[in-house]
Amino acid sequence: MGYFLKIEGYDVTIIHNGRKPPLVDLVFSNMLPSPSDVRVTKETMRIYRGFEEEFKTTFLKNYVALHIYPNRESLKLVEPVIPDIVDAGVRVRVFDSKEANEVTGLIYGDDEYVIHGEYEYLVSIRRIINILHGILDIIRGTASLKIENGNAYVLVNNEKLTGDAVVLAAGGWNVEIAREAGLKLPLVNYGTRALAIIGRTRLNKYSISDYTYDYYTRPMGNLLDPIAFIAGDGNVKTNDLRQVRRLTNKSYANWLIGSMKKRDPSMMISAIAGYSLVEMAYDYEPVIGKVPNTNNLYLIGGFDGYGAKLGPGLAFELSRLIMGLKPTIDISCYDINRFNNYEGPHDVDPRWEPVMLYLPAPSGASPCFYKGGLRA
Ligand SMILES: Cc1cc2nc3c(=O)[nH]c(=O)nc-3n(C[C@H](O)[C@H](O)[C@H](O)COP(=O)(O)OP(=O)(O)OC[C@H]3O[C@@H](n4cnc5c(N)ncnc54)[C@H](O)[C@@H]3O)c2cc1C
Repeated sequence: MGYFLKIEGYDVTIIHNGRKPPLVDLVFSNMLPSPSDVRVTKETMRIYRGFEEEFKTTFLKNYVALHIYPNRESLKLVEPVIPDIVDAGVRVRVFDSKEANEVTGLIYGDDEYVIHGEYEYLVSIRRIINILHGILDIIRGTASLKIENGNAYVLVNNEKLTGDAVVLAAGGWNVEIAREAGLKLPLVNYGTRALAIIGRTRLNKYSISDYTYDYYTRPMGNLLDPIAFIAGDGNVKTNDLRQVRRLTNKSYANWLIGSMKKRDPSMMISAIAGYSLVEMAYDYEPVIGKVPNTNNLYLIGGFDGYGAKLGPGLAFELSRLIMGLKPTIDISCYDINRFNNYEGPHDVDPRWEPVMLYLPAPSGASPCFYKGGLRA
């Protein structure tokens, strides 16, 4: 977002604590839980392609995705998403278990169905962040937020920084930073974890979301692709990072590898673990906008496991709001003001991901999501 403001001539300072971005690429998918999200990912794709042109390099690699559903009934609930993916220019096929086995060589239960297509990319987020940090003015340090008479300012390295706009964009740390400033945000933070898996298996060719056994895999996106890949299982309901690290342990690796061996019994071992904090809004859609009861504090957050998909598009739209411009797409699903008179749950179930459209959404989930085959 700093980049979008800077290219329009605004004076922007980023405060960053130096925590390294993920070593591996992140998945960018067109398989998303709402038509609104699909529109935002189109923006995101435009931004990534623009960066590729501007920085004369490639940030995106296209992979074949497999979404595996336990039965026909669960597939039915997801089917309304397919026209939107096709609309994004991607060929998508739906296989029964026999066809899926013939095409992928993986093992499926008789009742399972698979959505197959090149609708996922790996994005070199680390390289993008490094390039942008080279362009923008950065202060290295841990920021704290203060509010005085509705005006937000930042303390970092014993220095006070003020601005026409202060943007809180600290991912899984937003909630605590705001709480210390006396603000309650409509967000819940928790841990998420993944493992690098070494093994020559058919799994490493695909970006897999396995909704029967509840894990995902994706290629490394580098020279290690033939012998290694990333696998994980979504989220852990604790916001204590040390606890997340403890839970990314041997028994987690055994469970994950055991699940994957049901698809391909090849030898696999786990290597480096990755884990961090992420956050979700009470209704599971991201949040952007000016924080109520403040004059100049803006928030962008709630990206759960989808930051690489919705993040750049919504950062672009928030930068327009800050500049006093109209958004280029309808962003009402993400507007922070939707929580002004909100009476729903103030917690989330991080084990339910918005992409798990085959399971009923928990109470309080955004009305923007596709619902049981009907569009919201
Ligand atoms: C293991 C794992 C796998 C994932 N896989 C995917 C994937 O494949 N695809 C996908 O789209 N998403 C994925 N995600 C989720 C994705 O990482 C997040 O959605 C995304 O990073 C959120 O972006 P953000 O900018 O809001 O927050 P972050 O990326 O967390 O950025 C916030 C930054 O603020 C810094 N910070 C925090 N507090 C302070 C402070 N007080 N002062 C200064 N700096 C501070 C942090 O160090 C961090 O660098 C994954 C997450 C994990 C942990």
